[in-house]
Amino acid sequence: MYHKIKILFFHLCRLLGIFWLSRRLLHKKLRILCYHGFSILDEHEFRPGLFIEPDVFARRMQYLADKKYNIISLQEAYELKEKRLFPDDAVVLTIDDGFYSVLKLSLPILRKHNFPATLYLTSYYFDKNSPVFRLAVDYMFFKTKKINIPLETLAIPGLFSQDDSDASEKIITYGIQLETEDQRIDILKKLGTLLDVDYEALNVSRILNLITLPEINDLLDGGIDIQLHTHRHRFPTDYETASYEIEKNKKIINPHLRQPMTHFCYPNGVWGNDHWPVLEDHKILTATTCVTGLIDYDTPNYSLDRILDDMRISQIEFEAEISGFNELIRLIRRK
Ligand SMILES: [Zn+2]
Repeated sequence: MYHKIKILFFHLCRLLGIFWLSRRLLHKKLRILCYHGFSILDEHEFRPGLFIEPDVFARRMQYLADKKYNIISLQEAYELKEKRLFPDDAVVLTIDDGFYSVLKLSLPILRKHNFPATLYLTSYYFDKNSPVFRLAVDYMFFKTKKINIPLETLAIPGLFSQDDSDASEKIITYGIQLETEDQRIDILKKLGTLLDVDYEALNVSRILNLITLPEINDLLDGGIDIQLHTHRHRFPTDYETASYEIEKNKKIINPHLRQPMTHFCYPNGVWGNDHWPVLEDHKILTATTCVTGLIDYDTPNYSLDRILDDMRISQIEFEAEISGFNELIRLIRRK
């Protein structure tokens, strides 16, 4: 009910020109859009907050083009922020993680408009011929039509049957502490057999796999800038581990790029000021969060908020955010 009233309110505000006015008032703020994966099959039904249908993404990009938003690269935005010279209605496009679908589905749409974008690429699953373990386990449970599954045959401590509502989490917790990816793939294969979800087909579809080494060049040629997102998609506050995560990420990816990696995105949106010394020591220029908000000249470079766009956001909600209308509401509420 609240959601319906909100949508009606948005439509009314757009009709009355308040979205237009918000955009004019906040024309010197930077908007950084955030995407993750793009849906090749039914991933958007599995995780609507993680995978967006290409048609929806295409509509958003067309909207930005039609409404003459100024799409600039992340590096350009950083330089212009330092000079306090944002162009009007500036938007930066960012994509997190590095799913194969970024190349397959988003790149042609970005190329159509000649929009630059930044991909924050984690390196652990980069160039591996296997799906992200955590997602694959959940996806298999999402896909299965089977009931009463003898999950105890997986021989995972504390795991008994599918009636156990934590089954998926128990398998993930057990799997991620294993030494090798082969051991995790073995679990996925066995789980696939139990759930009647074909592991090989899932792997071949690459819906949950990241890009491979040769594909990096396709992305670079297509105008995608590749930046840091940690090695294993984690960024604890202890200095040593955080530093290792950046170093390893850089060591694996940077040799294949044409310039140094100097921008960072906090994995899982977890961040705090205690992360900043390690970012400074690695000469990171900017770090983006998963907090919703627009950027002005005084926003600290290590807490650049973004606009998260996904399947749960309707077109009118997207317009409320990109126009700056929602930011105005947030500013009023804070005062
Ligand atoms: Zn991520």
